[in-house]
Amino acid sequence: MEQCMLCIGCPLGCRLSVSMEGGKVIQVSGNTCKRGETYAKQEAIQPRRMLTGNMRAAGCSRPFSVITDKPVPKEMLLLCAAELKRHAPQPPIHFGDVIMQDILKTGCRVIATQDYLPPRKQNELR
Ligand code: SF4
Repeated sequence: MEQCMLCIGCPLGCRLSVSMEGGKVIQVSGNTCKRGETYAKQEAIQPRRMLTGNMRAAGCSRPFSVITDKPVPKEMLLLCAAELKRHAPQPPIHFGDVIMQDILKTGCRVIATQDYLPPRKQNELR
């Protein structure tokens, strides 16, 4: 079985072709670099994507941004995004803080990508 896909590893967007047999990748072609081969093998077997999103800290209305430390299975993206809305961590939040250890048992951690201070603390700093 042959599968065609566009590599999303860089703006070049190489057209990849993946040959599979018995659920295993036997050949990748069309890639210009090793990253494309790795992407094609993963994409053909279990597509994964980085999850980025926003969360709200407890008692705060302004959101702060987060990202997973590694890609989550593509079919779990929407469920994971909904899970972010169900949690309200205690501020203050610091860049790099682990907000969730293992979102929906995907093995991925959710990391804060910005500092977030409660509104009172923000006013004290002005
Ligand atoms: S195969 Fe390599 S060069 Fe081509 S799009 Fe993917 S990352 Fe870019």
